[in-house]
Order: sequence, then C-alpha cells, then structure tokens
Amino acid sequence: MTTILIVDDNLLNLELAADVLELADFDVITADSGHEAITKAEQIHPDLILMDLRMPEMSGLEAMLALHGNEATRDIPVAVLTASAMKGDEEHLLASGFSAYLQKPIDPSRFADQIAALLP
Ligand SMILES: [Mg+2]
Repeated sequence: MTTILIVDDNLLNLELAADVLELADFDVITADSGHEAITKAEQIHPDLILMDLRMPEMSGLEAMLALHGNEATRDIPVAVLTASAMKGDEEHLLASGFSAYLQKPIDPSRFADQIAALLP
C-alpha cells in the first residue's frame, strides 16, 4: 500500500485531494500544518508528501526544509502543491528541494495519475 501525506491549512483542499487519492486506492493521511506534517511523517513515514506552500506559522517551504534536515524523514520526497504560479516559481521551488511542482486547483480526473508518476 502506498501512503501519501497531504498537508494543507485549507480543509476543503485537504478533503478534495484526500478523497480523490483514496478513490484511487492510495492510503491517505492528512495534516493541516507544517508542525503536524513533521510529526506524522516521523511516525508514519509516508511514501510521498504533498505540501501546500502558504500556511500560517510554518510555511510549506520551511516544513520541507525541516523534513529534509531530519534523519527520520530526509528520504521522503516532498512535492509542492500550490496556487502560486508566478513566473520562475517552479524553478525556484524545485531548486529549494521540492521533488516536484503541482498546481492548484487540482484536476480530479488527472490527479491520481499525476501522483502515481511521482512515486519513487
Ligand atoms: Mg494554504
């Protein structure tokens, strides 16, 4: 079973992405903050993390860097899932350490295939 951790402070975004991936038979866990994401990643060690960027307290970038700096979670790929679509954002985020860049809003008809393609 492939486990995906979805991180987003917007609960509607979180539920939509989780529902789509559960229908595609992924094992889904969710977190609504960077701190919760780090705790769950350490405990459950998912195969892939989908990370929102704009969150209060700890941004998705900060959470990804913390995960990569943590021996228990550093090998888990972290893809960024963001509505941020400024020119240069994708290159900047990939250079920062995200394993992939996905744009919101998600397309429910394609999302599971997009995620499957990212799995190690
Ligand atoms: Mg957000």
